[in-house]
Formats: sequence, structure tokens, C-alpha cells
Amino acid sequence: MIMKGKKGVVLGIANKKSIAYGIAKACQDQGAEMAITFLNERFEKKLEPVAEELGCNGRFYPCDVSKPEEIKALKASLEKDFGEIDFIVHSIAFAPKEGLSGRFTDISKEAFEVAMDISVYSLIEITRELKPILSDKASVLTLSYYGGVKYIPNYNLMGVAKAALEMTVKYLAEDLGRDGIRVNAISAGPIKTLAAAGIGDFSFMLKWNAAHSPLKKNVTIEEVGNSGMYLLSDLSSAVTGEIHYVDGGFNIMGMPAVEFDEDGKPTIAWNGESK
Ligand code: NAP
Repeated sequence: MIMKGKKGVVLGIANKKSIAYGIAKACQDQGAEMAITFLNERFEKKLEPVAEELGCNGRFYPCDVSKPEEIKALKASLEKDFGEIDFIVHSIAFAPKEGLSGRFTDISKEAFEVAMDISVYSLIEITRELKPILSDKASVLTLSYYGGVKYIPNYNLMGVAKAALEMTVKYLAEDLGRDGIRVNAISAGPIKTLAAAGIGDFSFMLKWNAAHSPLKKNVTIEEVGNSGMYLLSDLSSAVTGEIHYVDGGFNIMGMPAVEFDEDGKPTIAWNGESK
């Protein structure tokens, strides 16, 4: 039981397809105890059974990260429940629809600010507010995507937010390293979740990734969950400031590896489907 004795909080479970759920489940399977959060009443009812299944025992709290008072209240609840915590999972992102398709130059300042606030600043704020109750070997984990490193069609505003998030991980890791606290990110391959549904042509991203990654498949929330559990556990005690890819190897590819048939024609078509 790799996570036995570890206590933590998981933010960003919308349903059982969420990446955060995959991470929470992997941690629970390895003996961790946890609290989870929900965005608002609309999600409270739906998530109640999930909290129960994850063994939260009533440790199930509202936390809209755009509301500082809810982050403060979360800290008070966690302190009451656990005293100290050993891990935080920040699996949260949001960009207004206008930022996830169309012309990049059309993105409004309002949309930019909302995306940066919820998808990036929230990691700094949550880490700072919960720091007084973090144990001296605590681990913080967030979720990124390759669209923060290279251009990905339609990822637009979220690409800029992920670039900022990945640098935030590094600056936080340096700042908190002196306190023994580690901060890492997983850059996951595309997975069909609620958040992903907002990205234009997402099903094409899935096909392209599966066709052009070395492992020739898309990743699952169980696979991201296991890697997340490793980064939250003492197995990764010397790892901090890392952006760890869990993407079937997609990020190492400089050019698609195309196979050719007997007539010399490529067997992988432009849309990722075999001919
Ligand atoms: P998801 O299930 O929709 O999770 C996104 C979560 O963010 C939801 O729980 C959502 O809450 C929450 N959220 C949005 N605004 C919030 C706010 N103001 N306060 C608190 N929570 C808020 O989608 P997911 O794909 O698992 O996304 C989790 C993370 O993984 C995100 O950072 C995403 O960018 C990243 N990621 C996803 C993929 C992918 O392909 N799916 C790939 C790489 C990285 P509600 O649903 O209740 O609004």
C-alpha cells in the first residue's frame, strides 16, 4: 500500500470520467484517505455517491476556485478533518468557449483573464492557502497538456494558460522546495472528458494522437491516475518541478512515423485512419 497513511484533497472531479477521479481512485487503491470538492450545488448531488465510493466519509466540500472565501473555508474544513495533509490534486481548468475555437486574435481580455484566473492562478492560491496544513513531505500535482508547449488546433487560449501553468509549477517547486514540498504536473494525452468536450474538433485530436504516438493508442484516466499516484507518493521523493508526460509518447515525435504499402503509398492517412 504505497499511499497508506497519506491524507489529501482532490479538486476537479466533475464525474467518473474526470482525470481527477482516475488519480483519486489510484490513491484510494493504495491506501490514501482523501477529501474531494465540488464546484456548486449543481454538482453536489451528482458527486455525493462518488465521494462515498472514494471513502471521503463526509469530507466533501464546495470549492469554486474563483472565490477566495471558498478556498479559505476548504482549508478550515481540511484542518478540522485531518490536521495536516500530504497531497493536493489540482485538476481544474476553464476557458470561455470563445477561447477554444476560431481566430486566436479574437480572444477578449475578459476571456483571457477568466482562463488565467481559474486555470493558473488557482494553483498558486490553493497552494498558498493550504500551505499551513501541508505536511513536511507534501506533494502537489496539477494537470497540463502539450498544447501549452506547441501549437494544437483550437486549443488556443488554453494553450497559453497551460504554458503559464507549467512555468508556475517550476517557480512554485523552487519556492516550496525549502519547505520540503514538491510540485509537479502531468501532461496528459487527450481524454474524452467534460472539459475536453469544449475544445473544437476534439475527436480529431484523439484520432491523431492514437495514430501518431509511439504506443499507437490514447491514454486512460487509470493510466494518468497511476502516474499521478506515483508523483503524490514518496516513490517520487526526489522529483519536483517536473512536467511528466503521460501521453503514449506523443510528445517525442518530431514527425509522424508513416508506414508504406507495396505501392509506396502511406498507410496512415492525414486524418489518422488506416487506409
Ligand atoms: P473535467 O472532468 O471536466 O474536469 C475539469 C474540472 O475543473 C471539473 O471538475 C470542473 O468543475 C473544474 N472547474 C472548472 N472551473 C472551476 C472552478 N471555478 N472552480 C473549481 N473547479 C472548477 O475534465 P478533465 O479533462 O478531467 O480536466 C482536468 C484537468 O486535466 C484540466 O486541467 C485539463 O485542462 C487537464 N487535461 C485534460 C486533458 C483531456 O484531454 N481531457 C488532457 C490534458 C490535461 P465542473 O465540471 O463542476 O465545472
